[in-house]
Amino acid sequence: MILLNDNCKHSFDSQVLTNGPYTMEPGKIRKLDEVVVNRIAAGEIIQRPANALKEMLENSLDAKATSIQVVVKSGGLKLLQIQDNGTGIRRDDLEIVCERFTTSKLQSFEDLSSIDTYGFRGEALASISHVAQLAITTKTRGEKCAYKAAYEDGRLKGAVKPCAGNQGTQITVEDLFYNVPMRKQALKAPNEEYQKILDVVCKYAIHNPQTGFILKKFGENASIRTQPKSTIESNISLVYGPSIAKSLLKIAVHDEVLQLEVDGFVTNVNFSTKKGAFLLFINHRAVQSSNLKKAIDQIYSPYLPKGMSPFVYLSINLNPNNVDVNVHPTKHEVHFLHEEEIVEKIRDSVEHALLGGNESRTFYTQALLPGASEPVDSAKLNETVGDKTLVYKFVRTDHNDQKLEKFFGLNISRNASITESLNESGIEKHSVRSKKQELKQDTKLTSVLKLRKAVEDDCDCDLRNIFSELTFVGVVDRTNSLIQYDTKMFLISTKMLAEELCYQMLLYEFGNLTRMSFTSPLPLMELALLGLQDPESGWTEEDGPMHELADRVVEILSSKAPMMKEYFSICISEDGMLESIPVIINDYIPSMAYLPLYMLRLATEVEWDEEQECFRTFCRETAMFYAKIALGKSEQEYKWEIEHAICPALKQKLLPPKLFARNGSVLQMANLPDLYRVFERC
Ligand code: ADP
Ligand code: MG
Repeated sequence: MILLNDNCKHSFDSQVLTNGPYTMEPGKIRKLDEVVVNRIAAGEIIQRPANALKEMLENSLDAKATSIQVVVKSGGLKLLQIQDNGTGIRRDDLEIVCERFTTSKLQSFEDLSSIDTYGFRGEALASISHVAQLAITTKTRGEKCAYKAAYEDGRLKGAVKPCAGNQGTQITVEDLFYNVPMRKQALKAPNEEYQKILDVVCKYAIHNPQTGFILKKFGENASIRTQPKSTIESNISLVYGPSIAKSLLKIAVHDEVLQLEVDGFVTNVNFSTKKGAFLLFINHRAVQSSNLKKAIDQIYSPYLPKGMSPFVYLSINLNPNNVDVNVHPTKHEVHFLHEEEIVEKIRDSVEHALLGGNESRTFYTQALLPGASEPVDSAKLNETVGDKTLVYKFVRTDHNDQKLEKFFGLNISRNASITESLNESGIEKHSVRSKKQELKQDTKLTSVLKLRKAVEDDCDCDLRNIFSELTFVGVVDRTNSLIQYDTKMFLISTKMLAEELCYQMLLYEFGNLTRMSFTSPLPLMELALLGLQDPESGWTEEDGPMHELADRVVEILSSKAPMMKEYFSICISEDGMLESIPVIINDYIPSMAYLPLYMLRLATEVEWDEEQECFRTFCRETAMFYAKIALGKSEQEYKWEIEHAICPALKQKLLPPKLFARNGSVLQMANLPDLYRVFERC
């Protein structure tokens, strides 16, 4: 800031007084011309064609229309026409309908608290008539014919003329902003305006399934058409494409204390959109609430690819006394009484829906609930714990098995107490409680956050789309599988993808991984020795005696035991016994034949000294071990795991790195329509 000293100020003043064109006389206060006042006011309400359309859609809905058709030219700047089959407007009211503060919906101030219509201020039509050429054709049920009237600056222009027409109202708005050149210039391209219009129509169509909506550009086919007496769900599918349907989760909240009622739909983590779709209605008005949006985005952000958002539609009903309905029409951002509690309630309910939603449930349990019970049903649990053949299943039989066999009795004991998981209601309570604690527990370590960000920044969105919609076709061999996306067939390298997936899971569930415990802990020393004996270890005599090296391995790993336990659920007891390894992918157990080599490599390949590099290399090594899916398992076993464990996890969670589009991890084999064409020629 520049401060002027007294001298300076004085000379400035005197200069103004003597030389400037100014006088010290105050300006005369005059009342502004009414037309100017109204035009300024109108400009505040109608800032772009979509605002005008929203007002008119609300009028049609207030008039109980079951069918509304919108026709648009040049993004609504040239023509915005809306035709409904509602009550119509009485002939006698046509004289004043476009004057400011004329309304059929509100009579006394007290009515404000019980208002159930969109409009009540009587400002919309008036405003539009101040910035555009406005004409109304309307017919009520009681009248024999329709009437037509034109308006300018809030007043009737010319006479009301009888004409032919069906029941309902048609409002034509032409040359919007013709008399407000500044605003017209400031407006963006017609295409952009059309997008906004489309947005408004879609929102209202979804929220009002009882009414059929049509939107079209003049002379073209409809861009959107919903049927009357449809449902919210089918309108969502219509607007966002049929694939959204299987991801929709229902939201319902009823809270008497807060006088709150919420209905809606959100998508599970399998769906995401670049544009983002947050449709919020409070007492049926389309509004925005950045607090609520933020709270919901936060739930999803760790699980959706960067820059992608879920679809969220929420219709909130509050006691009208608790919302200020008398907000300015352009004020879409709302605040309401008990906002914090209400946001919290809705957030909980969205989280709950995600937890409860089949596939997502497992996903969220793993991602968010470290101490929480896996939703295991008791039958499955008994099978896992009691069945000896399952124990055998975990053992590799063709390589070093005579030495390892005695160690292996795997018992999937999740962190949470099993009794609690067996109790159905216990699961729910436990999940919700731990989830909250857990959200707060998500790692704050910058190193891990940076590694996650690197994964996100490198995500190939096209590949992500393919994976999110993939259908498993079959296992080709021990490293490759076939998947289908849309009409295309892809050969994927199951191993490479599984490795990357495990790496990402380790980063995203850092500190929250479920433990897979060995019924009898395994001596690290033995594992290290076995690892050194494996030709893959590359051990030669020059490296020194094996048992010395094995000692060193045990020493290194033991010294890192607290960190491995806390962050990766790898438990090593004080006497050098390996007690557990993490569950990275549900229903998937790595091939134990490679466990010795894995332990050896943890000691030799991880960069223990630098935090971020340490986590990166640790996760990579671990992922490599877990991704060795094929060896040591029967064909039947690994096929089952690829189809039922790996592929669903790839579909839900993998953020494919860009490299995968180039390095043969994902290869397009065929496009089905092309194949059909080939067959036709044969
Ligand atoms: P408000 O909706 O706040 O009452 P408007 O300026 O939007 O004010 O509309 C003024 C009046 O015109 C409404 O109260 C209603 O009586 C009538 N009106 C407007 N549009 C329609 C319509 N599509 N069908 C029936 N009546 C309408
Ligand atoms: Mg209105």
